Amino acid sequence: MKPQAVKGTHDVLPDEQPLWRHLLAAVELELSRAGARRLTTPVFEYSEVFDKSVGDSADLVVQKEMYSFEDRGGRQLTLRPEFTAGVLRAFIEHGMHTLPRPVKLWSAGPLFRAENVQRGRYRQFHQINLEIVGLPQALADAEAVQLLYRVLHRSGLRRHHVRLGSVGDPQDRAAYNAYLREQLAPKVEALSETSRRRLELNPMRVLDSKADQDQALLVGLKRPIDFLGEGARAHLDEVRGYLDAWGVPYEIDPAIVRGLDYYRRTAFEVHFEGIGAQSALGGGGRYDGLIERLGGPPLPGVGWAVGIERVFDALAQEGVAPVDEDRPALFLVPLDEPAVLEVTRLAIALRDHVRVEHSYQPRNPGKGLKEADRSGAAFAGLRGGSEREQGVLQVKHLASGEQAPVAEGELLRYLLERR
Ligand code: AMP
Repeated sequence: MKPQAVKGTHDVLPDEQPLWRHLLAAVELELSRAGARRLTTPVFEYSEVFDKSVGDSADLVVQKEMYSFEDRGGRQLTLRPEFTAGVLRAFIEHGMHTLPRPVKLWSAGPLFRAENVQRGRYRQFHQINLEIVGLPQALADAEAVQLLYRVLHRSGLRRHHVRLGSVGDPQDRAAYNAYLREQLAPKVEALSETSRRRLELNPMRVLDSKADQDQALLVGLKRPIDFLGEGARAHLDEVRGYLDAWGVPYEIDPAIVRGLDYYRRTAFEVHFEGIGAQSALGGGGRYDGLIERLGGPPLPGVGWAVGIERVFDALAQEGVAPVDEDRPALFLVPLDEPAVLEVTRLAIALRDHVRVEHSYQPRNPGKGLKEADRSGAAFAGLRGGSEREQGVLQVKHLASGEQAPVAEGELLRYLLERR
């Protein structure tokens, strides 16, 4: 049997690397211009970091999805299932609360969740993550949404759209959860198994269910936005005011919820139609209280994460397909045995300036030129006995067929002038 990658994981092949570079360059440009700095944290943390951030009432689903293990020193470790907890652990550990606020940190890399695998849902996947720490004002929430929208726009997406909502303050949330429990308790038998569990632990999450049987029971029921207290409602209105003033398009989604119970007030998602049932490219919200829960100072924060694989899917739907422009400038062909060493030395010297490849054994001119063609090089440089005598290479422009002898010392200038 052929060896295989673990189910739910995938290789990023060389042909796919230009897309990665393209997206990360867009992200870095957009976020660094807004004052965000990149933070790279380890892919695993003490399990405690995630356990604390997940909290008691959080979904069992979240707990179950974590890849946790004991290492040889008996330490309980977890492969990160999300960025926020690790980023905030680093924020606290390195005393970043003394920095001017807000502190904006972005990250990108792999995450691990033991999920049911389907289109857009993998066990190792990648996210881009942004945290804006230290500001309680709605301006920070609005900026987070604006940056999420802009990052995707900068990458080439046009048809993505933002859904904005609010899960309210803790008391609003508690009131809504109580309401849902009361409404759904008599119909609990008709709920899906997951929703039944959610109804016990975090009733709001029932709204997230994709099962028709659950959605049928929710028809006519109130949404979290109907339970907002004065503070949360005013906060949402302020966020909207900024987004309207900046011309960031969004729609209000009264039913938006976030999986983890540390979220409060602003919650948002960005969607793209046409990438299957999992249409969310990303989401985020405000998480006042989380830093304290992780052992840090009582600082508020707001952040988001975007799934890189889903963005790639969406970019493909929009016809954005970056390719590698970096073709070899020159492909060297040794025509006899002594030329093998000569072309390798030349290649090593020229690589200070341009990309150069070569055959690894003597070739006849026909076969050598074919090889040069396949490499995608602009020029082929042939070297045999007569070229050696004259201190030149026969240089052929592969597209036009034009050919000329070029002195070794002139080669670089020749290539650069004709690029
Ligand atoms: P979350 O961290 O669950 O809020 O997810 C944020 C975004 O990450 C989602 O909107 C997806 O784009 C992406 N995402 C989450 N889970 C997965 C997964 N298992 N496989 C691929 N992408 C995912």
